[in-house]
Amino acid sequence: MKNSQNINKGIVFLLCMLLVVSMVSGCTQQTANSADESTYIAGSYTVEAEGNGGPIKLEVKFSEDEIIDIKILSQAETTGLGDNALNSIKSQILDGQTLDVDTVSGATNSSKAIITAVEDAVKQAGGDVEVLKNNGTKKENEGKVVRLQADVVVVGAGASGVSAAIAAADEGAKVIIIEKTGVIGGASNLSWAGKFFNSSAAIESGLVVDEEKTIDDWIVNNHWRVDAAAIRQYVTKSGDTYDWLKEKGYNTTYMNFGGEQLHVLPPYENREETLKRMLAESVENQGGQVITNTTGKKLIVNEDGDVIGVVAEKIDGTTLEITAQNVIMATGGYAANKEMVKEAFGFEGVNGGLGQNIGEGLEMSWEAGAKVPDNFGGQMLHQTLARATSDLKSNYESFKASYPLMLSYLPNFMNVGTSGARFRDEAATLTAVAAANTSAFNGPYHYVVVSKSQIDSLIAEGMIGVNAPGLPGLPPEFYADFQDQFTLDNPWKDAYKVLDSMVENGDGYKGDTIEELAKNAGMDVEVFKETYNNYKNAINTGVDTEFGKNKEYLTPMGENGPYYAIIAEINNLGSVGGLLVNKKFQVLNNNRIPINGLYAVGLESEGVLFNDTYVGNGVGIGYAFTSGRLGGQYAAKEILKK
Ligand SMILES: Cc1cc2nc3c(=O)[nH]c(=O)nc-3n(C[C@H](O)[C@H](O)[C@H](O)COP(=O)(O)OP(=O)(O)OC[C@H]3O[C@@H](n4cnc5c(N)ncnc54)[C@H](O)[C@@H]3O)c2cc1C
Repeated sequence: MKNSQNINKGIVFLLCMLLVVSMVSGCTQQTANSADESTYIAGSYTVEAEGNGGPIKLEVKFSEDEIIDIKILSQAETTGLGDNALNSIKSQILDGQTLDVDTVSGATNSSKAIITAVEDAVKQAGGDVEVLKNNGTKKENEGKVVRLQADVVVVGAGASGVSAAIAAADEGAKVIIIEKTGVIGGASNLSWAGKFFNSSAAIESGLVVDEEKTIDDWIVNNHWRVDAAAIRQYVTKSGDTYDWLKEKGYNTTYMNFGGEQLHVLPPYENREETLKRMLAESVENQGGQVITNTTGKKLIVNEDGDVIGVVAEKIDGTTLEITAQNVIMATGGYAANKEMVKEAFGFEGVNGGLGQNIGEGLEMSWEAGAKVPDNFGGQMLHQTLARATSDLKSNYESFKASYPLMLSYLPNFMNVGTSGARFRDEAATLTAVAAANTSAFNGPYHYVVVSKSQIDSLIAEGMIGVNAPGLPGLPPEFYADFQDQFTLDNPWKDAYKVLDSMVENGDGYKGDTIEELAKNAGMDVEVFKETYNNYKNAINTGVDTEFGKNKEYLTPMGENGPYYAIIAEINNLGSVGGLLVNKKFQVLNNNRIPINGLYAVGLESEGVLFNDTYVGNGVGIGYAFTSGRLGGQYAAKEILKK
């Protein structure tokens, strides 16, 4: 599958090259000051733009030809999400000398703010923003080829790739790890916790999981259509990953999460640095290299069909031809490739994963003969998002802006699909995976319906007023900036104002009557009226004959409007699978025989654990580190055998 963005960039680049020939001037080196041929008026410029949590203040430093530094003077973005986005975009701008950068999923406001602020600085420095936006990345080394050699080359530096590189280096292999962006750690930098079964910390705390039962249940719950050996390996070996990470200084904190053994990742602000240090101590110490801003493009395959390396492209256009005995694919899937997700899974929802994961690793592996697994298409649907949140954040403090989001995580409100029909026991909202998948079955989004009497109760008494069974189960990073207000009895001041703003922004609907709400939201009026009457009946009798919702959650809706319909969307944290692997993480061909020299870890191979979609808690992280650790070891050991 081709990526139109890359193609466009290619076309732009070619056009630019033609211009270079005719004008004999550099692509990105627009002349701002024609008298001395310089691009910028050298100096430092202080600029500001409104981010998600308040103003972002930067100092941008220019030489006559380049943006040489971007200093973030102050910011109040969400820890681990917004601040990571600032750093990621900062390095993309600096490395590429471009403003043609993608916003980071889940941190759109923060991303836009830094881009806007740098644009302002470019203008002040006499540069041409349009040129920086249109030319794409600066590729002054197009045509230059550099040949490198390693024992193992790892493509992608998320949790799985970093672990694979370190484990292989620790076995004595010379490793090169390449990463598309300037950031090390991938989605792990945004994640909360991982599952390492029966880790020493879990056992010490007194919670021991019955591994045989866990494996049996896992297989049954996935309808047996999974790789039992892979599941056994993960369940029995992931505990060691906890100790391995601890030894390396990547300290996770064990917690008993309702009987599940979760391990909370290190503080967001230390994670990337810790992974970089770990790579330095193992990979670079062994003579290997960590090469960022470099995209794996194609596998090198010899006449016997063995994979013997990878061709990659650096951001400056340099082609790297890296030959190696084994290549480990750790490219994190294709969730940002909407077309591919739609084709594989039928899902049209939101990509909450990394914007750069567009399936390149899968494409190059399939091209080299890898099998497309029979269960290909699974996704990591894990959370509900209210479409309103990010728009509301421009006008309201985070707590208020999150009213629609919190409502979508509570079981006390009627949930309907786009037709107006109810589709589930809303208690499904209490479990992240159930919440996401029940909704996804029903379409790309659903509506959470709230009535006047319910809003009045929220205003008077907070969430206690609507009988919320507990705080909405938002991921911690979602409420990090309003933790002190996130209590059950905090009254929801200005709730009508906030919900009216949601409607004005086009992120939800309002009606003074049930019929009007249905009409405004584009539901079928008759379907919604019948749904509403049945639901009212359940509230009145305490018996939900349609979906069996517990009567505790059948919160009265009163008799009067207004009524609101909140658009609740499903967050896809990543695609799951695409390469079939054996227990050594060797990629299999159509005959299910290992392709010599090719391995896959992390999300790229995670389809061995799940039937049609992800049903785990902490498995994404647990498997990324564990498959990386084991895959790296196997790949290095195979070389030592050769
Ligand atoms: C917001 C968010 C929250 C999450 N929370 C949790 C959680 O709490 N617990 C949990 O278990 N799981 C969680 N997950 C899922 C978990 O983070 C992932 O399953 C896991 O980190 C995947 O690791 P990976 O190494 O396979 O892929 P990634 O982390 O995606 O890494 C892939 C890397 O490859 C790079 N890359 C892509 N293409 C190329 C290319 N062509 N060449 C070179 N490099 C390339 C990417 O830039 C990236 O750095 C969350 C995911 C997200 C997005």
